[in-house]
Amino acid sequence: MKIAAIETIHISIPFIHHGPSTGFAATNFDNLATLIVKVETDAGITGYGEAFGYNAIPATRAAIEQIIKPHLIGRDATQISALMSEIQQTLHIFGRYGPVLYGISGIDIALWDIASKAAGLPLYRLFGGASRTELPVYASLLRYGDPEVVRDRTADAVSQGYQYVKLHERTVPSIRAAREAAGDDVAIMVDVNCPWTVQQSIRMARAFEPYDIFWLEEPVWPPENFDGLAEVTAATPVPIAAGENYCTAWQFKALLDAGAVTYAQPSVTKVGGITEFRKVATLAETANVLLAPHSPYFGPGFLATLHLAATSTEPVERFFGNLEATLFGDMVNPTNALLPLPQGPGLGCDPDPDVIREYLVE
Ligand SMILES: [Mg+2]
Repeated sequence: MKIAAIETIHISIPFIHHGPSTGFAATNFDNLATLIVKVETDAGITGYGEAFGYNAIPATRAAIEQIIKPHLIGRDATQISALMSEIQQTLHIFGRYGPVLYGISGIDIALWDIASKAAGLPLYRLFGGASRTELPVYASLLRYGDPEVVRDRTADAVSQGYQYVKLHERTVPSIRAAREAAGDDVAIMVDVNCPWTVQQSIRMARAFEPYDIFWLEEPVWPPENFDGLAEVTAATPVPIAAGENYCTAWQFKALLDAGAVTYAQPSVTKVGGITEFRKVATLAETANVLLAPHSPYFGPGFLATLHLAATSTEPVERFFGNLEATLFGDMVNPTNALLPLPQGPGLGCDPDPDVIREYLVE
């Protein structure tokens, strides 16, 4: 079964932010963009993947179309591990992190979709099955920068049944507002996206301690300061989480060897795809580190994450808020903070062509 064609599809779907948007990567954050990677085979099986994401999409798209794709057309779609090793080695001079690896991730996801469709099985069955058929998801709130909006959005999430709420706030008043709204029984995570030095991180972790934080995510700048993260881990009882900014199992090995985190957060659309994610999962298991996937997206990468989390113990990240339309109907819309593990062949569902047509970015 040979790879016959690779196509990239950029869509952007509006959603309601609900707060004073503080912007995201230098733009207003009122649309959610997705880069779908479509891989067709000469056997008539088509697979879908997703490559990260947001404002990097034009660069990721160019990496796929101009750098990665020429190496893969005509190759055997069933030899995923060998192809991924080869493509990573061939293209390593263009960066081991960023658009090239995001693009490789998207193609890898599509190849696994093809493999499991060829087998007639949902993807998780190829990995050895599941320990749960419904996955708890956590509400990953956006950054509002206003404690009253944080209070309101947290209360809304809890009223919808969420037992885990993640904030993207950086101040004590916002964390306090969320805890007051959530009560004592809901887990609150705080994701700050790499703003602080090690010393500032320790100080802020201590300031958040009274609010019983489930994890503090990415306190330290830069993210690859593994020793610095380890210092924070050693200095506070607040569990530290990180991983969305690391590519390949090798960078996760450095993270884990440093004893830097309690939660490892690989992102399947960034880390090198499903193939690389599974290597990270094994490393984390042997380091006694919990796996908490990064998945604030709504394309095929989100469905892939559900399959990869089928034997995990931790909740799966889902952006809090509903898009105007979704690629997979209600498969990505939880009920009582639970999502069923997809049961169709492959990722479980192909992207809705009508939604692609309507929200296509030229
Ligand atoms: Mg994060």
